[in-house]
Amino acid sequence: MAGESRRELLTAISEFMMLHQLAVSPENLSAAYNAVSGASPSLTRRVAARIAEGEPVTQGWLQEASGILDTEAEDEASRRLSTELDRSLNLFERSTSAARSATSEYGDQLDRQVSRLSSGGVGETVRELAVLAQQMAERARIAEGELRASEREAKALRRRLNRARREAERDHLTGLPNRRAFETEMARQYAEASEQGHKLSVAFCDIDRFKLINDRHGHAAGDRILKLIAQTFTAISDNNCHVARHGGEEFVLLFRGQSVREAMSRLDAAREDLAARRLVNRETENPVGQVTFSAGVADALAFPTPKEALRAADLALLRAKDEGRNKVVAADCSV
Ligand code: GH3
Ligand code: MG
Ligand code: MG
Repeated sequence: MAGESRRELLTAISEFMMLHQLAVSPENLSAAYNAVSGASPSLTRRVAARIAEGEPVTQGWLQEASGILDTEAEDEASRRLSTELDRSLNLFERSTSAARSATSEYGDQLDRQVSRLSSGGVGETVRELAVLAQQMAERARIAEGELRASEREAKALRRRLNRARREAERDHLTGLPNRRAFETEMARQYAEASEQGHKLSVAFCDIDRFKLINDRHGHAAGDRILKLIAQTFTAISDNNCHVARHGGEEFVLLFRGQSVREAMSRLDAAREDLAARRLVNRETENPVGQVTFSAGVADALAFPTPKEALRAADLALLRAKDEGRNKVVAADCSV
């Protein structure tokens, strides 16, 4: 890129940041670059529409708009993968059916020659059989090569598909299972626990005043705190305690074989450990201070569906917030 146009691009990016009063963070710089350079035409369109509506382009909105675009990019990747899978299956079908028709044609011709053999004309028939066998061998070699190529392609696609499936169920920031994976897990555990007469408790957790932390210390520091809290929950999770990031600064936990009281006491211990720490922003060395979370816990099987149980835990979480935060509250009808 020529010096002049590089300068123009840099000016456009800084004007965008200044105009919308965006903090100078890697995320905002990247979003500003995508919006003004034409690198992401859909983000450019979204920003233009937002300005036309007279709505502010804030850090939160930009993050959300970029998130939607990430999802769109993931959808595009899935579409590409499924097209490739389709192509590979077509190839596989074509080569298997070619191999099958080669074999069955050979079988039919062999039948005819064998019946001629039994009705005399042996010399002619043997010659024809030899030609036929040669043709068959040639077609079998081609079919085998095609089958081998299809098999290789199918294996490579299977590996990519498995990787894509795993990625689709994981939250990229914290490495925890995401909401989609959690919903599948919760449906499974809910059905199993009801059938086997096990207890099952579900918790909805939310970081307290997280927006303030982002505003004061920047989004990157906010991200590091999200990872730290994910580790706090991972530390209490085991075979009977499944944790996931439900979205934003919200986490969900499933406690198999544990009553609401037992689940609450495990969460309370994690909450107290976290609340006792005094965090420091490692980039600026500014104190972040105390970071806390609130939670609501429900007896999953006291509700007709997993969704209603999760909603009850969420309502209990709201009560924990109302009652001053840094608190774990039991949902109604579940203790
Ligand atoms: P409350 O105690 O009532 O929960 O207050 P709060 O500030 O935590 O709640 P609010 O819902 O107003 O703010 C949530 C904030 O979480 C806003 C959003 O920018 C931030 N957030 C969501 N996802 C992420 C993320 O992936 N990274 C960072 N850094 N912040 C995020
Ligand atoms: Mg929240
Ligand atoms: Mg919050």
